[in-house]
Amino acid sequence: MSMSVPAADQNDSDSHIKSFYDFYDLAASSDDYKVTYCKSPENKSCIFCGRSYPEVSFQLKPHLVPELFGRNNILSNHECDSCNTAFNFHETQTATFVQPFLSMLGVKTKKGIPVFQSRKKPDQQTSTLRVEGNNRIFNIGTNLSDIVYDYEKKSVRITFRTRPFIPFSVYKVLLKMGISLMPEKDRALNPHLLDFLKVDHPVHNNVQHWTLYRYVMKGKMFGTPSAKLFRAKQVVVDNEEFPEFCLMMNFANVTLQFFLPITEINAANHDPARSLHIEIHPSFVLDDYERLKEIKTETLDLDQTEKVTLNEVMTAYYDRIDRDTKNDG
Ligand SMILES: [Zn+2]
Repeated sequence: MSMSVPAADQNDSDSHIKSFYDFYDLAASSDDYKVTYCKSPENKSCIFCGRSYPEVSFQLKPHLVPELFGRNNILSNHECDSCNTAFNFHETQTATFVQPFLSMLGVKTKKGIPVFQSRKKPDQQTSTLRVEGNNRIFNIGTNLSDIVYDYEKKSVRITFRTRPFIPFSVYKVLLKMGISLMPEKDRALNPHLLDFLKVDHPVHNNVQHWTLYRYVMKGKMFGTPSAKLFRAKQVVVDNEEFPEFCLMMNFANVTLQFFLPITEINAANHDPARSLHIEIHPSFVLDDYERLKEIKTETLDLDQTEKVTLNEVMTAYYDRIDRDTKNDG
């Protein structure tokens, strides 16, 4: 489930800050897809099932960055309707995972700003958070501890108890995004990545680093979601091996860092005597060294096929509280 790892070491030398870029280059960005969407299905083929128009239809507007992360116009020309629809389940699971951040920051998805609803036991009432204009409206169900006020600091500490979701579905959504962004020649070289989208259970054959890293930032807001695919400059440095591809995605006040499964180039250079290097320093999201301490780093194990729940704790600052103590139940 969720585990906290220490944030960046503030006593570290400045030279450590740029280390992610020392090892990885930008390979593709969702920014490049905004203007290139083509409505006509003629000549379209699907990178996920390999079929082409008119064998499969291309009527839906497939989002390269799913709109569960926030409204966007980042569309793909290479995803058929049936592959798009087949992912609905995984996207719903992932939406539950990210919902607290969208509700808290008031990020609009296709259906507007999601209303957060906490999980509850049968005899409990759910707590909800909805956004109206600049106001956050909390409806505390039976869990009074979900919201703790600090009147002196004018802050409120909110515990978002997410409803259950499947981490393995989050894995599939992220892997699919990574494959969509991948240059065509790399996709052709790595057909096994497509297989991993289709399996019902995680393939534990040392070809996947299963940890998802999350960096939650104070006072940072990504207006629209975006995704970037990075490629290791070298897959072997000294005595360490680097996953060739790393996906970074930004939404609300969160950056997700996901390492794609080991590629053909990784496999060709593999030596069991070497160790795997996972470069997780969150410096890539902020230029300002001082603000690194405002980042909370958390992880999620993506090979879980059973539903899990998380408690996301966030602190918000307010100008005014209007209370409505009317009790409906
Ligand atoms: Zn398809």
